[in-house]
Amino acid sequence: MPLPSSSATPLLFEQGQPGRATPYVVSSASARSFLPREVLRDDLELPDLSELEMVRHFTRLSQKNFGIDLGFYPLGSCTMKHNPKVNDAAAALPGFSDLHPYTPDHLAQGALQVMWELERALSSLFGMAAFSLNPSAGAQAELTALLISKAYFRQRGDSARTTVIVPDTAHGTNPASAAMVGYKVVSLKSKENGRVDPEAMRQAVGPNTAVCMLTNPNTLGLFEDEIATIAKIVHEAGGLMYYDGANANALMGITRPGDMGFDLMHINTHKTFTIPHGGGGAGHGPVGVAAHLVEFLPTPLVVRDGPEGRTTPAHAFRLDFERPLSVGPVRSFWSNFAHAVRALAYIYANGADGLRRVSQLAVLNANYLRVKIAEFLSVPYDELCRHEFVASAQDLKHETGVRALDLAKGLLDEGYMAPTIYFPLIVPECLMIEPTETETKETLDAFVETLRALVARAQSDPQTLLDAPQRTPVGRIDETRAARQPDLRWMPPSSGANER
Ligand SMILES: *Cc1c(COP(=O)(O)O)cnc(C)c1O
Repeated sequence: MPLPSSSATPLLFEQGQPGRATPYVVSSASARSFLPREVLRDDLELPDLSELEMVRHFTRLSQKNFGIDLGFYPLGSCTMKHNPKVNDAAAALPGFSDLHPYTPDHLAQGALQVMWELERALSSLFGMAAFSLNPSAGAQAELTALLISKAYFRQRGDSARTTVIVPDTAHGTNPASAAMVGYKVVSLKSKENGRVDPEAMRQAVGPNTAVCMLTNPNTLGLFEDEIATIAKIVHEAGGLMYYDGANANALMGITRPGDMGFDLMHINTHKTFTIPHGGGGAGHGPVGVAAHLVEFLPTPLVVRDGPEGRTTPAHAFRLDFERPLSVGPVRSFWSNFAHAVRALAYIYANGADGLRRVSQLAVLNANYLRVKIAEFLSVPYDELCRHEFVASAQDLKHETGVRALDLAKGLLDEGYMAPTIYFPLIVPECLMIEPTETETKETLDAFVETLRALVARAQSDPQTLLDAPQRTPVGRIDETRAARQPDLRWMPPSSGANER
């Protein structure tokens, strides 16, 4: 379903007339009387609006945005799946949402129990000794894990370890995080079959290897079947294995990074555990460690005092700040606590068997799409994939001039979110597709037929794709200029700032 096109929507400030205020909406003059003086600028014109003008304005705005609640969102690596509304209801319970971060532990036992139970659930699901719920994004979790690795080597008096090994299929945040903590990044070229080459790894490691950062399944959607050998090589060289589990949709209940030999990992609850995300926020990236690294985790950790068992004693949970080897807090307060509630609600709604089923269906759906799409687009690594796979428009581009970007824009016109494009970098003109387990066969079939029709249109009428999208609120933009000169702020027409 295409989005309604209404590019001429006036901004809120440009609507209304003096005297429009109603019993439902206060006038601008009375707003001035109760808003604190220090937050109001004299030159700020507040509009007088009727309630209907406001309702229409905000409803229209909400329709300009594409979201998972509106249509299929096959954005590879980002795991945009259905966000069960009950998770939001749980996070909005007043006992959680009204809790002040400075509430003393003995009055916040329920919230602490949520954090403790989530930490325990993640540890058992991924085979790690402990997790910190502190980082508020995947990239921040990577940074935290690398800080932990530094603290670990420092404590061992091993100052020679200065490099991080990152395969060329890695997510872009991996080398960026390594560089941010001052490690030197060594990129590792993948084998023909899209996987890490153990021989190349053997050549790359040495006494200066600190960490090897791997994503498994990697960004081509392929499982690193020599992972045990790779872990052994890195460990024998004295390095640590880091698992980027941002997107663990193919793994849950099937295999665990801890069992594969990883020392550190992170998980994006905003991807794998159905937390709404988009527009860059708000994330949640718990970081997990094996037993030898627990003492370096960020503070505070939630601990439980007293005997193990189903019935917990009163005041059993507390925040532990007394951790002398900790890298310290990496985030204010208790991170995005509402996300911890959502993630735990999701885990409990599914249970262990349900989470395994989630992974099985995510893999099944990805393979279903892979086989169907291979009928009309090339699929460079055409073998069983995990939760995602990569197709390429390279041949199509040679034949018709239509690129992955143009197919992506064409999909927007047809009411779909585009897949991730031009990533991973090792596949030219790639489209990285992740359907997730939450879509029906009918949705997947409709997507395939839409994409098939776009590829046919590339042959018969390529210009229409080069001009797409036509039906979205914003047409094709100059992507370079949008990145270099983002226009994010409304300016009054008189300022001339909008006339570019
Ligand atoms: C999304 C993602 C990240 C980064 O996570 P953010 O929360 O966006 O910082 C890192 N690695 C992989 C594999 C990802 O998919």
